[in-house]
Amino acid sequence: MAFKPADDIQDLQYFGEFGGVNPSISDATTFTFVSAKIMSDTFEGNTEGCHLYARHTTPSNLYLGEALAALEGTETANVFGSGMGAITAVLMQLCGTGDHVVSSRTIYGGTYAFLKNFAPKLNILTSFVDITKLDIVEAAITPQTKVLYCESVSNPLLEVADITGLAALAKKYNLQLVVDNTFSPLSISPNKLGADIVIHSLTKFINGTSDTIGGVVCGTQEMIDSLRSVIDGAAMLFGSTMDSRPASSILKNLRTLHIRMKQHSMNALYLAEKFESDGITTVYPGLESHPSHEIYKQMMNVEYGFGGMMTIDAGSLESANALMELMQKENLGYLAVSLGFYKTLFSAPGSSTSSEIPEDEQKEMGLGEGLIRFSIGLDNDIERTYQQMKACMKTVGVLS
Ligand code: PLP
Repeated sequence: MAFKPADDIQDLQYFGEFGGVNPSISDATTFTFVSAKIMSDTFEGNTEGCHLYARHTTPSNLYLGEALAALEGTETANVFGSGMGAITAVLMQLCGTGDHVVSSRTIYGGTYAFLKNFAPKLNILTSFVDITKLDIVEAAITPQTKVLYCESVSNPLLEVADITGLAALAKKYNLQLVVDNTFSPLSISPNKLGADIVIHSLTKFINGTSDTIGGVVCGTQEMIDSLRSVIDGAAMLFGSTMDSRPASSILKNLRTLHIRMKQHSMNALYLAEKFESDGITTVYPGLESHPSHEIYKQMMNVEYGFGGMMTIDAGSLESANALMELMQKENLGYLAVSLGFYKTLFSAPGSSTSSEIPEDEQKEMGLGEGLIRFSIGLDNDIERTYQQMKACMKTVGVLS
């Protein structure tokens, strides 16, 4: 049967203790036990339905985790205080001193900085590769490699990972394929394509209201249990835990993710097609000109489209800045990092979200200084938005 994540989420019912249509927010960091024996069993991870301490689990976090496991079709999931909290915990759980990671070279700047600058302090080294070339990925694998790491759709260049091909490599060399699916929730289901672990920054599309930071790791029960272990679990010991209040609020927003993703995708495709035909260098996985358009089509859950992220090349940083400032003045969006908001957000990644990547490496991977990353909003009349954006482009000379 076809995988229907939005329906699986819809089928999950959680009630508050007085019949509330939303589950009650758990308002406790510690939990009582009827017997000392149950308490010690819970410490050892042997009791179902009992909670110990809020850094370990809370009812609110488990509700959200189960809904996100339904989103990704994994056995279970653990929520974190941020996307970076989730990413670092997974990498530290899977790798020890002397281990090696093969990672896409176009990934979120924070993840890149962690692998490049922090993990080597623990003698965990990373080879950064062009993830779209499976032969290059395979050549980078060594006997020490433990993890293949990528984003389904990469930040900020919107490169698309061939998850099926990468999963085959991971299987062949006994590696864990870890996929950050932040840019393409619902649209791509990495676990269904063979990924072992799926991560999201919940801060983005999944929450969708730019008011809460959070992350999630979706995987097997065994993996999630290992992250939560009181003995050596990175989730438990690093303490990058989500609090119950944001967990409850993100769960409510997740209920409308399917509607929002369809609108984000529809608007982004509309603008990308128009900008491309106006002669602007536009990157969007839904365009036939995107080098991985066919691969995306094979992987996607069609009804959610190609996602809400696109880039254009404004030619220079000066033009990019002038355009973004004018678009903000005209109320077409906000000059801000992050993504997945109702309003369009734009930034020049070379000098913001990817500034952790040295300039020469940015150049090598094709990250030009005039690149503008757009997270397209939920605008009702996208033709009107297009006309207004085009006028701004003409004013600043990006379009003649
Ligand atoms: N992964 C991707 C693709 C991101 O874009 C970001 C943040 O921009 C993160 C992870 C980190 O998430 P957070 O900011 O929630 O820690």
